[in-house]
Amino acid sequence: ILGVFVTVTVCTTIIALVLCLAQHYTVDLPHGTQYGMVFDAGSSHTSLFIYKWPGGKENNTGIVSQVKVCEVDGGGISSYKQDPPAAAQSLRQCLDVAKATIPVEQQQSCPVYLGATAGMRLLRLQDENATNDIMEEVTKTINGYPFNFRGAQILSGMAEGAYGWVTINYILEGFIKHTFEGKWVPPKAGRILGALDLGGGSTQIAFTPKDPVKQPDSEAALQLYGHRYGVYTHSYLCFGKDQAMKQLQAYLVEMSGSSAIVMHPCYHTGFNLTLTLGDLYDSPCVSKPGNIDPEKSVTFSGTSDPDQCLNLIRFVVNITECPHSPDCGFNGVYQPPVHGEFFAYSAYYYTFDFLGLAPQAPLPKVTSTIETFCKKSWNSLLAEYPDTKEKYLREYCASAQYIMTILVQGYKFNETWDKIYFQKKVADTDIGWTLGYMLNLTNLIAPRHPLVVTGVQRSQWA
Ligand code: AMP
Repeated sequence: ILGVFVTVTVCTTIIALVLCLAQHYTVDLPHGTQYGMVFDAGSSHTSLFIYKWPGGKENNTGIVSQVKVCEVDGGGISSYKQDPPAAAQSLRQCLDVAKATIPVEQQQSCPVYLGATAGMRLLRLQDENATNDIMEEVTKTINGYPFNFRGAQILSGMAEGAYGWVTINYILEGFIKHTFEGKWVPPKAGRILGALDLGGGSTQIAFTPKDPVKQPDSEAALQLYGHRYGVYTHSYLCFGKDQAMKQLQAYLVEMSGSSAIVMHPCYHTGFNLTLTLGDLYDSPCVSKPGNIDPEKSVTFSGTSDPDQCLNLIRFVVNITECPHSPDCGFNGVYQPPVHGEFFAYSAYYYTFDFLGLAPQAPLPKVTSTIETFCKKSWNSLLAEYPDTKEKYLREYCASAQYIMTILVQGYKFNETWDKIYFQKKVADTDIGWTLGYMLNLTNLIAPRHPLVVTGVQRSQWA
């Protein structure tokens, strides 16, 4: 009887204890996958990046990965200034792709951001009402989808550069490293790379210099995982590939005394491009001469002359004037000497990849490849590259010469050319500002040490 009594008592106590524990403690079950999305509303096009990461405790570590990228049909949202609702409409196809990609039960908790870059920064200088209308229309449309939309914003150039830098170093585990035992530790010899971004409207450079940045308004001070990084960042508005090419065209027209046919040494012999003056001068990056007839047209006629092309580009990119000598970028901008390795992405990559120069090639090979390419006639190019889009094919020579000018003469990568990697992706994730932006705004980088940006430019960060 005593044995039965003891057994019953012990069992009752154990059951009571288990019930009590079950009431007071929740079991730490693994959370499901979480998703996040960012629209990169660039000057020439919009892409939607879909990311995922494991939910739960570990999500403050470097394990966000890219699930998908959806390319929006048509031009960048800034090209819809005459019809802002159409800008929003253009995003629907990718929003539908996102709906089909992300499990229904995860959609409401999926944060969505839209960041617009130089195209909208330029439109804002030209037409503030159209800019606001476009931002309102895209906001309305994204809000109509079952995601957690956290807003549309025009990024400052400095933010664009710094977030690109964050993306690269996050993917490369430069801030924190996953050990074999599954722990996250600071990497031993911090291999931190710089970022070189060439968009259509602006170009950005971001890197940690050897010595402290001397101009506070050129520094993004980032606090990541308890470590402070002083990142030199500059964004050159109007020096993206497309706006630089526009500046070159306007310069050639001016030099020709506004004649109807203008020789263009960066275009190929046999190629002709006709533009109206209205189109040519429709940008705050080119100064419009007094009274032009916007309907009048000008035809650029290619001459396949790489040396003259390079000389002309030096009129667009001012490499001589510098009040901060010897700490200079181009156009009189302060820049400490470049330091460490760099990833060059966006149009840097597209151009060098097309020419067979990515991810790396020695400088003499680069210059000779560009020279040979630029000397080709338009007909031979069309025959050699029948599948390449004409709008890109006609510009590879000019953009390659432009890239060489800003990298070598502008940023001064002469001695350190071999430190640049022309790259689009790392570990299946596209290099660009979007991942760094999302990591920051969703507090994924380090909840206890959120990304803090100090310095004069702080107000430009959301
Ligand atoms: P954004 O739209 O501002 O991000 O700028 C992207 C830049 O890359 C623009 O100058 C585009 O013309 C250029 N681009 C995009 N795709 C290609 C490509 N396949 N070949 C050459 N340039 C490209």
